[in-house]
Amino acid sequence: MGMGRYVKITGIMGEGRYAARHELSKESFFATLDRDFRGKFNPFNRDTPPEWCPFLLESDEDGNYLCSIHDSAPSFCKNFKCCTCRIFKIDGSPAGLVKGRSTLVTDDLKLKKMWDNAVNAALNLDLEGQKVKIAEIIKDSGYKVDYYE
Ligand code: SF4
Repeated sequence: MGMGRYVKITGIMGEGRYAARHELSKESFFATLDRDFRGKFNPFNRDTPPEWCPFLLESDEDGNYLCSIHDSAPSFCKNFKCCTCRIFKIDGSPAGLVKGRSTLVTDDLKLKKMWDNAVNAALNLDLEGQKVKIAEIIKDSGYKVDYYE
Protein backbone atom coordinates (compact mmCIF):
# COMPACT_ATOMS: atom_id res chain seq x y z
CA MET A 1 0.00 0.00 0.00
CA GLY A 2 3.02 2.28 0.13
CA MET A 3 4.56 1.06 -3.11
CA GLY A 4 2.95 3.79 -5.21
CA ARG A 5 6.01 5.83 -4.29
CA TYR A 6 8.19 3.34 -6.11
CA VAL A 7 6.17 1.53 -8.78
CA LYS A 8 5.64 3.92 -11.67
CA ILE A 9 3.90 3.35 -14.99
CA THR A 10 6.10 4.87 -17.69
CA GLY A 11 4.12 3.98 -20.78
CA ILE A 12 1.08 2.25 -22.25
CA MET A 13 2.00 -0.60 -24.55
CA GLY A 14 -1.50 -1.69 -25.52
CA GLU A 15 -4.74 -2.89 -23.94
CA GLY A 16 -3.81 -3.85 -20.36
CA ARG A 17 -0.08 -3.70 -21.09
CA TYR A 18 2.27 -1.17 -19.55
CA ALA A 19 5.91 -0.22 -19.38
CA ALA A 20 6.79 0.34 -15.75
CA ARG A 21 9.65 0.91 -13.39
CA HIS A 22 10.40 -0.02 -9.81
CA GLU A 23 12.32 2.92 -8.40
CA LEU A 24 13.82 1.02 -5.45
CA SER A 25 15.38 -1.76 -7.47
CA LYS A 26 15.85 0.47 -10.56
CA GLU A 27 14.10 -2.27 -12.51
CA SER A 28 12.25 -1.53 -15.73
CA PHE A 29 9.61 -4.11 -16.58
CA PHE A 30 6.62 -4.79 -18.77
CA ALA A 31 3.42 -5.30 -16.84
CA THR A 32 0.45 -7.15 -18.28
CA LEU A 33 -2.83 -7.30 -16.43
CA ASP A 34 -3.56 -10.87 -15.38
CA ARG A 35 -6.37 -12.49 -17.34
CA ASP A 36 -8.99 -11.94 -14.61
CA PHE A 37 -8.50 -8.17 -14.68
CA ARG A 38 -8.26 -7.45 -18.40
CA GLY A 39 -11.00 -5.07 -19.46
CA LYS A 40 -12.08 -4.64 -15.84
CA PHE A 41 -9.24 -2.73 -14.23
CA ASN A 42 -7.57 0.46 -15.35
CA PRO A 43 -4.68 1.69 -13.19
CA PHE A 44 -5.34 5.25 -14.41
CA ASN A 45 -8.99 5.16 -13.42
CA ARG A 46 -9.29 3.89 -9.90
CA ASP A 47 -10.36 5.29 -6.55
CA THR A 48 -7.56 3.91 -4.39
CA PRO A 49 -5.19 6.20 -2.45
CA PRO A 50 -2.30 7.64 -4.50
CA GLU A 51 0.31 5.96 -2.29
CA TRP A 52 -0.99 2.53 -3.35
CA CYS A 53 0.89 0.75 -6.10
CA PRO A 54 -0.99 1.50 -9.35
CA PHE A 55 -1.45 -2.25 -9.85
CA LEU A 56 -2.88 -2.98 -6.39
CA LEU A 57 -6.61 -3.41 -6.09
CA GLU A 58 -9.11 -4.51 -3.49
CA SER A 59 -11.30 -7.45 -4.43
CA ASP A 60 -15.05 -6.71 -4.47
CA GLU A 61 -15.79 -10.29 -3.49
CA ASP A 62 -13.80 -10.87 -0.32
CA GLY A 63 -12.06 -7.58 0.50
CA ASN A 64 -8.63 -9.09 -0.08
CA TYR A 65 -5.91 -7.07 -1.77
CA LEU A 66 -4.68 -8.31 -5.10
CA CYS A 67 -1.83 -7.62 -7.46
CA SER A 68 -3.42 -7.17 -10.88
CA ILE A 69 -0.12 -8.03 -12.63
CA HIS A 70 0.90 -10.97 -10.47
CA ASP A 71 2.30 -12.97 -13.40
CA SER A 72 4.43 -10.09 -14.67
CA ALA A 73 5.22 -8.27 -11.40
CA PRO A 74 8.81 -7.01 -11.06
CA SER A 75 11.37 -9.28 -9.44
CA PHE A 76 11.50 -6.91 -6.46
CA CYS A 77 7.92 -7.92 -5.67
CA LYS A 78 8.41 -11.58 -6.47
CA ASN A 79 11.44 -11.78 -4.19
CA PHE A 80 10.04 -9.56 -1.46
CA LYS A 81 10.50 -11.01 2.00
CA CYS A 82 8.46 -9.43 4.72
CA CYS A 83 11.19 -9.64 7.31
CA THR A 84 14.75 -8.41 7.77
CA CYS A 85 16.27 -11.85 8.08
CA ARG A 86 15.45 -15.49 8.75
CA ILE A 87 17.24 -17.79 11.13
CA PHE A 88 17.70 -21.50 10.46
CA LYS A 89 18.85 -24.42 12.54
CA ILE A 90 21.94 -26.35 11.43
CA ASP A 91 19.72 -28.88 9.68
CA GLY A 92 18.19 -26.07 7.60
CA SER A 93 14.81 -26.03 9.31
CA PRO A 94 13.40 -22.56 10.10
CA ALA A 95 13.97 -21.33 13.65
CA GLY A 96 12.70 -17.75 13.51
CA LEU A 97 12.55 -14.48 11.64
CA VAL A 98 13.34 -10.89 12.48
CA LYS A 99 11.03 -7.96 11.87
CA GLY A 100 12.50 -4.48 11.61
CA ARG A 101 15.95 -4.08 13.09
CA SER A 102 15.91 -6.65 15.86
CA THR A 103 12.46 -7.95 16.79
CA LEU A 104 12.80 -11.71 16.81
CA VAL A 105 9.75 -13.89 16.15
CA THR A 106 10.38 -17.45 17.34
CA ASP A 107 9.12 -20.23 19.59
CA ASP A 108 12.70 -21.38 20.21
CA LEU A 109 13.64 -20.24 23.73
CA LYS A 110 17.33 -21.07 23.26
CA LEU A 111 17.44 -18.93 20.12
CA LYS A 112 15.57 -16.12 21.88
CA LYS A 113 18.20 -16.03 24.62
CA MET A 114 21.05 -16.14 22.10
CA TRP A 115 19.45 -13.43 20.01
CA ASP A 116 19.04 -11.09 22.98
CA ASN A 117 22.69 -11.66 23.91
CA ALA A 118 23.82 -11.06 20.33
CA VAL A 119 21.79 -7.84 19.99
CA ASN A 120 23.19 -6.54 23.27
CA ALA A 121 26.75 -7.41 22.22
CA ALA A 122 26.29 -5.47 18.97
CA LEU A 123 24.55 -2.41 20.40
CA ASN A 124 27.44 0.01 19.93
CA LEU A 125 28.19 -0.95 16.31
CA ASP A 126 26.84 0.64 13.16
CA LEU A 127 24.07 -1.19 11.29
CA GLU A 128 26.38 -3.24 9.07
CA GLY A 129 28.61 -4.07 12.02
CA GLN A 130 25.58 -5.16 14.02
CA LYS A 131 24.54 -7.59 11.31
CA VAL A 132 27.99 -9.13 11.10
CA LYS A 133 28.38 -9.40 14.89
CA ILE A 134 24.90 -10.84 15.40
CA ALA A 135 25.38 -13.35 12.57
CA GLU A 136 28.70 -14.48 14.12
CA ILE A 137 27.21 -14.99 17.57
CA ILE A 138 24.14 -16.76 16.22
CA LYS A 139 26.36 -19.01 14.07
CA ASP A 140 28.47 -19.90 17.10
CA SER A 141 25.23 -20.86 18.84
CA GLY A 142 24.38 -23.38 16.15
CA TYR A 143 22.11 -21.31 13.89
CA LYS A 144 22.47 -19.59 10.54
CA VAL A 145 21.20 -16.10 9.71
CA ASP A 146 20.11 -15.02 6.21
CA TYR A 147 19.74 -11.26 5.89
CA TYR A 148 17.61 -9.84 3.08
CA GLU A 149 18.83 -6.25 3.09
S1 SF4 B 1 3.16 -7.04 -5.91
FE1 SF4 B 1 1.91 -6.06 -7.53
S2 SF4 B 1 0.58 -4.63 -6.42
FE2 SF4 B 1 2.25 -5.18 -5.02
S3 SF4 B 1 3.80 -3.58 -5.32
FE3 SF4 B 1 4.32 -5.29 -6.69
S4 SF4 B 1 3.36 -4.77 -8.65
FE4 SF4 B 1 2.39 -3.50 -7.07
